[in-house]
Formats: sequence, structure tokens, C-alpha cells
Amino acid sequence: MTGPALIEGLAGIVGPRHVRTAPAERLTYARDGLPTHSRLPGVLVLPGSRDEVVAVLRLLAAHRVPFVPRGAGTGLSGGALANGDAVLIVLTRCSRIFKIDPKNRVAVVEPGVVNARLSAAAAPHGLHYAPDPSSQTACTIGGNVAENARRHGDPHPRPRGGARRRPRAGARQPGR
Ligand SMILES: Cc1cc2nc3c(=O)[nH]c(=O)nc-3n(C[C@H](O)[C@H](O)[C@H](O)COP(=O)(O)OP(=O)(O)OC[C@H]3O[C@@H](n4cnc5c(N)ncnc54)[C@H](O)[C@@H]3O)c2cc1C
Repeated sequence: MTGPALIEGLAGIVGPRHVRTAPAERLTYARDGLPTHSRLPGVLVLPGSRDEVVAVLRLLAAHRVPFVPRGAGTGLSGGALANGDAVLIVLTRCSRIFKIDPKNRVAVVEPGVVNARLSAAAAPHGLHYAPDPSSQTACTIGGNVAENARRHGDPHPRPRGGARRRPRAGARQPGR
């Protein structure tokens, strides 16, 4: 359950400012792009780095508390909604672009990077982040990967004319 010990533990990882329990704040995250459904999450936590995400997940596992990750909440399938017994992990603070490698067409980013920001960063290299759904000015790379978003392309590179290969848009640690 999302009791005081858990909230204290989360605050110890991300800082008290990034753990939200007030009903009005939780209400802000009670919907995504699916207008027919809403759920009030038990607790909101907003980690700011990979290490914080890992520590949060370890804590939730130790307390056996369910969680739902969330990017910008633009998804149209209700996937970013969390029940009252669950923690909503909001990833919008994890928004660093570490590297763009134009030669190999690989970007190393955190999951909360907004699509349009990645396209802007890639533009000087003559590249564009292709999944580009109409929510591109708000939605995040993490949400794109989870939703397999596509319009002109998708976030998972594939060999030309072949079957899908293992996605590279995963949780790779920069420099490893
Ligand atoms: C106006 C509009 C137009 C659209 N047009 C298209 C289109 O043309 N083509 C298309 O494919 N899609 C389209 N979409 C859908 C779009 O792909 C999704 O809205 C977007 O990918 C979701 O990103 P998000 O950051 O808002 O994710 P959220 O809505 O926050 O989350 C979506 C799902 O991803 C999961 N998730 C989010 N971040 C992570 C993470 N870091 N790790 C693990 N799981 C995560 C959530 O748990 C949830 O299940 C459109 C949406 C809108 C609102």
C-alpha cells in the first residue's frame, strides 16, 4: 500500500518536492488522452534521473506496490492511468539528450524527451525523428516506444525490407 513509510522512502530518493499526494495534484494526472476513462493515482513520483528511477523501482518492489510509468499523458488507450493503490511514475523530468550520432542515426536520450525537442536537436544534421504523431509537441520518447507510435516511421529501427529486429530504443545506459 502507498502508506507513510513508502512516501518517506520515495521522498528520500527524489526529494519531497517530487512526491505528490495532494488530491488536487493527483487529479491532474487522473486522465490521459482517452476521454472516457479516469483513475486517481495513489501517489505521484517524479524521478529526475536513471539512478532515481532505478531506486524508486527497487523501493516499490520491496513494498510490493504496483506502478504505472507515464510520459506526457497524450496516449489514446488509457495506458498512463494508475489506480489508487498504485504509484504513478511521471518521467517528464528525465529529459536529457545525451548524444546524437548522425552517422549511425542513433540518439541516446532519457525517456521524458519530447519528440519535437529531439527533432529540433537532430535537424542540424539533416535528420528528423520520424514517429512524429500529431502529439509531437507534447508526447515523449518513452511513451512513443511503449505505444509503438508511428506515422512516418517508428521508434524501433529495422533492417531494410526485413523483419523487425531487437529495438534499440530501449533503456540503454549511456556509455555502457
Ligand atoms: C492528437 C494526437 C495525435 C496522435 N497521432 C498519432 C499518430 O499519428 N500515430 C501514432 O502512432 N500515435 C498517435 N498518437 C498517439 C501517440 O503515439 C501517443 O499519444 C504518444 O506516443 C504517447 O506518448 P506520451 O509521452 O504522452 O505517453 P503516455 O500517454 O504518458 O503513456 C503512454 C503509454 O506509455 C507508457 N509509458 C510512458 N512512458 C514510459 C516509459 N518511460 N517507460 C515505459 N512505459 C512508458 C505508459 O505507461 C502508457 O502505457 C496521437 C496522439 C494524439 C493526442
